[in-house]
Amino acid sequence: MTTQPQALPSLSLAAEAFFARREFGLIIDGQSVPAASGETLETFNPSTGEGLARIAAGDAADVDRAVRAARAAFNGPWAKWSPYDRQALLFRAHALIDQRFDELAEIEAMDMGAPISKVLATKASMQRSIGFFASQALSIRGETAPNGLPGEVTTMTVRGPAGVIGGIIPWNGPLGSQWWIIGAVLATGCTAVLKPSEEASLSVLRMVELLNEIGVPPGVLNVVTGKGSKAGEALAAHPDVNRIAFTGSTETGRKIIRASTVNIKKLQLELGGKSPDIIFADADLDKAVVGAANGVFNNSGQICFAGTRVLVQRSIVEQFSERVAAYAKTLRLGRSLDRQSQLGPLISSSQLDVVKGYIDAGKREGADLVCGGDRPDDLGEGYFLRPTVFTNVNNEMKIAREEIFGPVMSIIPFDSADEAIAIGNATEYGLGGGVWTRDVSTALRVANGIQSGVMWVNCYGLIDPVVGFTGAKTSGYGAKGTSAHLDTYLQTKSIYIQV
Ligand code: NAD
Repeated sequence: MTTQPQALPSLSLAAEAFFARREFGLIIDGQSVPAASGETLETFNPSTGEGLARIAAGDAADVDRAVRAARAAFNGPWAKWSPYDRQALLFRAHALIDQRFDELAEIEAMDMGAPISKVLATKASMQRSIGFFASQALSIRGETAPNGLPGEVTTMTVRGPAGVIGGIIPWNGPLGSQWWIIGAVLATGCTAVLKPSEEASLSVLRMVELLNEIGVPPGVLNVVTGKGSKAGEALAAHPDVNRIAFTGSTETGRKIIRASTVNIKKLQLELGGKSPDIIFADADLDKAVVGAANGVFNNSGQICFAGTRVLVQRSIVEQFSERVAAYAKTLRLGRSLDRQSQLGPLISSSQLDVVKGYIDAGKREGADLVCGGDRPDDLGEGYFLRPTVFTNVNNEMKIAREEIFGPVMSIIPFDSADEAIAIGNATEYGLGGGVWTRDVSTALRVANGIQSGVMWVNCYGLIDPVVGFTGAKTSGYGAKGTSAHLDTYLQTKSIYIQV
């Protein structure tokens, strides 16, 4: 398929001007530049299947150029910025989001397919994220402690920026998720080379352009677009990159761990999940049905901590399955710029094929399809799939074991809290989980019993960087949010002073 000019109804003038450019370079040292090879990649509008833009296909040579720019910026005037200066820059970014969020949201909706109303609703969480990192800029500190050394020796630790960060970003929400890296880089005084997903790079490119306009010094934030197997791999293995912050699949995470051995990089890894959402018979079902459904179907299931294994106490399985299917059928599937859309398409035709393959596997293995499983016939060539519910799933089935990253719920019956915890933990992953009950003891027992980095009680998917989250098992390590987030971006040094 080729990139054809297309009508872009209902885009703001700013977003229309952005898409009218059609070709987007790398951002290195504050400049937009083509890939050294001159190669480009086409990126598609998931709502229509049409070509949307071309992005530079960066490779190892471009990564090297960007890392050099980032290193020079790290050693340049940026190093003299005080914490207050960096905090003021983050405040300006906060104001920028106030002014430009509509444009950024439209770019994200067009590029990765999320419904515009849902993207617009993420403004508050982005503002919280920037506010959080602005506070962290003033919170970096070392320690002094009495020591047992002979003579008079004063000892302390100091913490400073770790250097050049490689930030590797997935496609399922780059507009917001890039701030986990950008916020920490600006708060600590590091510099970065960002590698967005080849499926959805545009909101990262636009964000960095806008941040450069409000005074981020050239070279502090660089963007190398391109394939994971080229630009991503080169960044993960680059000997002058000090740390990698990676969000993506567990499989890619393993490759990044291997690449990190080149110069023993410290890593922050947020990886895949297969989270259990556990519904007890005493739960407020009005809330649990909607909460569990949205816990799977939001962003068309393309959320790392989606609660895709819905464990339901046996006495209410039938009632719950009927109600959740009835709710799923009310969700309005539509193109991303349609303000009425509640669910958008999947990111790509290949991801659509992957998810359809899982639906076939579910049927083959004997799960009962309650609703969905097919494509709508009124939405053209977009990569749409109806929200899908399987019941009578057991935890051994492929649809219960593997991360699908699509709108597919698997309902698994259980009898007791102990059994729910055992099934919940019978997975290689350990990212999130939910529990719905009116009994506080049951809630706490399950929340404590599930081996995961985050649990929600009578709600699902809430995140505030002040509280943060992390992964357990093969879902990764390193904190997102809290002061521990900055550990990836800071180097601690001990100093001994003989008085
Ligand atoms: P992915 O692993 O395919 O790609 C993620 C990023 O890594 C992309 O930028 C890609 O180009 C790059 N990449 C690919 N191969 C690489 C390599 N060999 N070396 C370096 N970089 C490489 O993931 P995706 O399909 O973009 O995103 C979906 C996955 O991300 C899911 O598994 C999901 O659970 C996970 N995810 C996790 C979290 C979390 O916080 N735990 C959040 C969002 C998404």
